[in-house]
Amino acid sequence: MISEFELIARYFTKATPNALLGVGDDCALIASGRTIAVSTDMLVEGTHFFHGDDPFLLGKKALSVNLSDMAAMGANPRWATLALSLPEADESWLEAFSGGFMMQAENYAVDLIGGDTTRGPLAICVQIMGEVDAELALRRSGAAVGDEIWVSGNLGDAALGLAHLRGEIVLDESDAAFCLKALRDPVPRVELGLGLCGISKCAIDISDGFCADLSHILERSKVSAVVEFASLPASKTMEKYRAAPLGERAILSGGDDYELCFTVPPEKSAQVEAIGKRLGIRLSRVGRIKEGEGLVVVDEADNAKRIRAAGYEHFR
Ligand code: ADP
Ligand code: MG
Repeated sequence: MISEFELIARYFTKATPNALLGVGDDCALIASGRTIAVSTDMLVEGTHFFHGDDPFLLGKKALSVNLSDMAAMGANPRWATLALSLPEADESWLEAFSGGFMMQAENYAVDLIGGDTTRGPLAICVQIMGEVDAELALRRSGAAVGDEIWVSGNLGDAALGLAHLRGEIVLDESDAAFCLKALRDPVPRVELGLGLCGISKCAIDISDGFCADLSHILERSKVSAVVEFASLPASKTMEKYRAAPLGERAILSGGDDYELCFTVPPEKSAQVEAIGKRLGIRLSRVGRIKEGEGLVVVDEADNAKRIRAAGYEHFR
């Protein structure tokens, strides 16, 4: 049976060009002349993923959801730590998990500089750190009256995949594969976040559902918003379900999308479109920031929709 220290050496010790000192001492050492953005996200078996889920994709997603927070701040990710609670030291599981985590770390030039490893129920806690200019950071409080609201990518695919796993809907093979990929292998919008610095002042990543996450922006910015349901971006698969209650719920309130919702003054829309073109990412204008408070989603006849489900909340 592999020991704790062999495990760390074998699976979680890699070169750390961004750090002065990486894994192996009591602390890692990092240096930067810029403002550091810091965020933590945890994945717990039974809450965020199922027992038996593919360990490679789990490792990759554990970093991706943290990279998504960097993206939502407009930060450039540089360093991460990884705290792992494992029921057992299963080497084939560790090999695959570390493979997924490290591959995504390499994709985004993030160094794994430390962590902690204990025995317990399966839980994965990543802290990520990156660099940002404090004045340009994309804050939730940065939305202004008159701004247009934009969304990257498509909404609801991950929620549709989860509904399929739960047996609430039966997707055909190719739709299921597409939605389960969205659920298990989300793409963090890091380059988009970096590109928006200086154009937008406000972004959030859609991890808890579009309405819930946009509402966070509205509260923090002390503004309201009107969003047109028909303009909310959906994949070909999702479009088949848009008119059904389950589809509408997935678009408005589905979690785990990891797209960015951001606001931009209308005179800068051409710059946003240029970024979308350069990065090959679908960017959609979905509504507008107004005075007051609250979120109204309207249908094509301009009638306000009742927004049924709020975002995911752990203690409700
Ligand atoms: P401590 O006794 O201070 O908790 P540990 O013995 O837990 O230190 O860890 C030894 C070294 O290995 C430390 O540098 C720590 O950051 C690192 N480390 C432990 N677990 C992990 C992990 N899962 N991923 C990356 N580094 C880890
Ligand atoms: Mg320790």
